[in-house]
Amino acid sequence: MNSLTSEQLAHLTGRIRERKARLLEEIRQALARSGQERYADLLGGTGDAGDESFASLVRDVREAEVVRDVGEVRDIIAAEERLQAGRYGVCIDCGDSIGYDRLAAYPTAKRCLACQQHRERTRAPSKYTGR
Ligand SMILES: [Zn+2]
Repeated sequence: MNSLTSEQLAHLTGRIRERKARLLEEIRQALARSGQERYADLLGGTGDAGDESFASLVRDVREAEVVRDVGEVRDIIAAEERLQAGRYGVCIDCGDSIGYDRLAAYPTAKRCLACQQHRERTRAPSKYTGR
């Protein structure tokens, strides 16, 4: 269970939805600029593109800006799936509630702060390894 009130959850859900719409619009414009209109057409421009077609259309897009936005949209889609499954706001590693402050700063967070820091520490390349 997450520790969010229904008002907090509604607020975060709204922010996620707005962010996704904005990113999809940015992606659409970037694709149009780079002459990849066939991808842009698939996205529509409503921000309501099906997640299926979205996932397949971006597979071979290499524009750096688009790749970054697409990564964020993927995070957003994953957060939407957790919302639908009732697992939003629950750390995927330890199962603790993530907490509203962290989610307000980072609505697609899937780990609590402690687990995220642990992950970054253990994955971060260190100049001291390999000695
Ligand atoms: Zn955790």
